[in-house]
Amino acid sequence: MPEGPEIRRAADSLEAAVKGQPLTEAWFAFPQLQRYSASLLGERIDAIETRGKALLTHFSNGLTLYSHNQLYGVWRVVDAGETPQSSRVLRVKLQTAEKAILLYSASDIEMLTVDELAQHPFLLRVGPDVLDMTLTAQEVKERLLSRRFCRRQFSGLLLDQAFLAGLGNYLRVEILWHTGLAPSHKAAEISEPQLDALAHALLGIPRLSYQTRGKVNEKKHHGALFRFKVFHRAGKKCERCGGIIEKTTLSSRPFYWCPGCQK
Ligand SMILES: [Zn+2]
Repeated sequence: MPEGPEIRRAADSLEAAVKGQPLTEAWFAFPQLQRYSASLLGERIDAIETRGKALLTHFSNGLTLYSHNQLYGVWRVVDAGETPQSSRVLRVKLQTAEKAILLYSASDIEMLTVDELAQHPFLLRVGPDVLDMTLTAQEVKERLLSRRFCRRQFSGLLLDQAFLAGLGNYLRVEILWHTGLAPSHKAAEISEPQLDALAHALLGIPRLSYQTRGKVNEKKHHGALFRFKVFHRAGKKCERCGGIIEKTTLSSRPFYWCPGCQK
């Protein structure tokens, strides 16, 4: 299951392929979307925004294509005119002179005006996205301390897209290890320095993952690379305290942690 950093990187590659280029074809499988095909010709994709697992493709005519991949949807980049062999069902094709982006298998696809975008039920439900670079640690801290979230255990809170969008299971366990917090804690019961550390990690760790995960050449990289400290490391030694990392299940998902130093 991809998490925010992987989804944002996928959106980056879609943007790199088609952003700013006039559309030469806009094709939609669903009948209710087909009326947009003609009016999108010559328009451009201004930006591809991510909100949790939703992708918002913003066009220069003010419309936005909302797509949520659920479990099966997948976007691909191809050369213009290329139709790849696939057992998946094509739902959307947005083509420019050079490249095309194709959406397969997703069923949750809508075209929205600015007003409809502001009223969309899924988007109203999800919290701010951790990879929205305008979101600050101070705002995250206020959210942690808000009446709505301050009495929720971190194990469940960090998976709730209504709290913050873009977090998933590997980020949940890594953030709690980095801040030395046990998963049963709640924002209402931890110290001010712990709150500050958590608010910073909730943004810093997903952003480090987005920028560096999968990169291996440390010499070319200045600063830290993202590496798993506890995720998929059950039975191994904790690099901070030497304790043994344990695996359990919390909020129906595998949970990894070090009982030696996560208090
Ligand atoms: Zn430890």
